Amino acid sequence: MRLSRLALATTKETPADAEIVSHQLMLRAGMIRRLGAGLYTWSPLGMRVLRKVEAIIRAEMAAIDALEILMPAVQPAELWQESGRWQAMGPLMLRMTDRAEREYCFGPTHEEVVTDYIKRDVRSYKQLPLTVYQIQTKFRDEIRPRFGLMRAREFIMKDAYSFHMDDAGLDHEYQAMRGAYAKILDRMGLDYRVVAADSGAIGGAKSEEFHVLAHSGEDELAVASEGGYAANIEAAVTRAGDGPRGAPGAALKKIDTPGVTTIAGLAEHLKVPESATAKAIVVMGESGDPVLLMLRGDHMLNAIKAEQLPGIATPLTMADEATIREHFGAGPGSLGPVNATVEVIADHALANVADMVVGANYDGAHFTGFNWGRDHPEPRFADLRNIVAGDTSPDGQGTIDILRGIEVGHVFQLGDKYSRALNLTVLNESGAEVVPQMGCYGFGVSRVVAAAIEQCHDDAGIVWPAAIAPFELVIVPIKADKSQAVRDACETLYSELKAAGVDVAYDDRGLRPGPMFADAELIGIPHRIVVSDRGLEAGRLEYKGRADTENSDVAHDIDAIRDK
Ligand code: ATP
Ligand code: MG
Ligand code: MG
Ligand code: MG
Repeated sequence: MRLSRLALATTKETPADAEIVSHQLMLRAGMIRRLGAGLYTWSPLGMRVLRKVEAIIRAEMAAIDALEILMPAVQPAELWQESGRWQAMGPLMLRMTDRAEREYCFGPTHEEVVTDYIKRDVRSYKQLPLTVYQIQTKFRDEIRPRFGLMRAREFIMKDAYSFHMDDAGLDHEYQAMRGAYAKILDRMGLDYRVVAADSGAIGGAKSEEFHVLAHSGEDELAVASEGGYAANIEAAVTRAGDGPRGAPGAALKKIDTPGVTTIAGLAEHLKVPESATAKAIVVMGESGDPVLLMLRGDHMLNAIKAEQLPGIATPLTMADEATIREHFGAGPGSLGPVNATVEVIADHALANVADMVVGANYDGAHFTGFNWGRDHPEPRFADLRNIVAGDTSPDGQGTIDILRGIEVGHVFQLGDKYSRALNLTVLNESGAEVVPQMGCYGFGVSRVVAAAIEQCHDDAGIVWPAAIAPFELVIVPIKADKSQAVRDACETLYSELKAAGVDVAYDDRGLRPGPMFADAELIGIPHRIVVSDRGLEAGRLEYKGRADTENSDVAHDIDAIRDK
């Protein structure tokens, strides 16, 4: 590609409203432009990266026989009412009404739609297992869209769904998808960890997240030095307890709360000070399963949980008692008459959603609670404790290191939650109707681009891993306007490299060397060849890898360049 034709729009200045490096560099490189809160246009340069990411994903999906489909972004409310998530999704879901007053949402995810789709054509065990996926735009009305594409409202997800006759089939596909995700991230050259994730109240369901490691990551990961234990700290804390939901472990302690049956009572029992600025709502699941929680000011912590606990936890507006009453007040195992508001549960201003999680379980007699926070190496309440760096891990092996990560993928064994709710059945070998088991597997296509930049950059700009760079190589001419020899050499080199299958950019914009070098570094092209009269006279070209500190020479020869 000739860069004069690419509509490059780079800037030197760091945009004031961009807090993290990937957002800054994507704006400075002109990969994206903002339209509104959490809404971005991908430029031609940005698209080159996005398409490479998509190509890697498609190749790895094909390798495990996942089939590409494309479902509507706009979805009828009825399906969500059937699954119970029309309510449960709360304000995260963008809703709309058509001219006939029918209700729709812009899909935040597609479990309902895909189950409905499969229901139409799959009748027999012979058609299973089946895995479909799409690469598509999602909309989530995130409470606090920020960091550019990292937490956008409209974003691109690869979402896959698998259907099986039994648990063993589901587990097999889950492992295959897990393997495919690892390959995708390996091919992109990113440093990542796979961690156990909180699978919420969907009992026994297995769920793991893929995190690209980066200081700016919103999630904390507890990773053991030995034994392979790795968990999102959310899951580490909520799972590793001796409370009703937890596996054996030490992190979650039972608080003796004799006579305390309301959340307000709990707040009192825990001596939450009047001066506290944070607020929380605690809700119990219908099944009596522990369900949490929590929000504060504009950081809706429970939105995180709500997605993982569909139908049970709901993103609520602050202390919205009527909503709580509607959703939870009447359910068995609920708190009964609405007691579910804790006005204050911490006495400091939280800087980030990841700063603190507060939870409570009520088993009819006792509350079990926990909290943790990176600003709280000391547990806030004497009965509770954190997982912190240096702890022995839950399985007794090694010590815990706390890493920061960006969630780019999430694989989940759903079981029959959606197939049952939407009446999907298939006939088994003996002709009986069986409700299939499902898995779902999300991958943040646009987010991983930002995550790659968080991990791969320097002071001059982006340092793309080769597989997802917008171009593999750039040709930079020196004083082309004064030298026919330089122009000819560049043209020839450009054609030869193209013919050799190299994704090459030719900087034919007629700029001075400084700005051309700066742009090549900012947009992160892995290899740079400089063509000058002096070099041509010596039969050499000047080469620099994006991560190299020094230039080197390369022979004026395609094979020599390709060896680089
Ligand atoms: P997060 O915890 O960051 O809010 P999530 O757990 O809500 O993410 P999932 O429902 O698991 O997200 O969706 C699958 C993938 O979609 C995530 O792993 C992430 O890569 C991507 N994703 C989710 N929300 C966003 C967003 N607002 N902007 C960009 N990508 C997103
Ligand atoms: Mg998450
Ligand atoms: Mg989310
Ligand atoms: Mg997730």
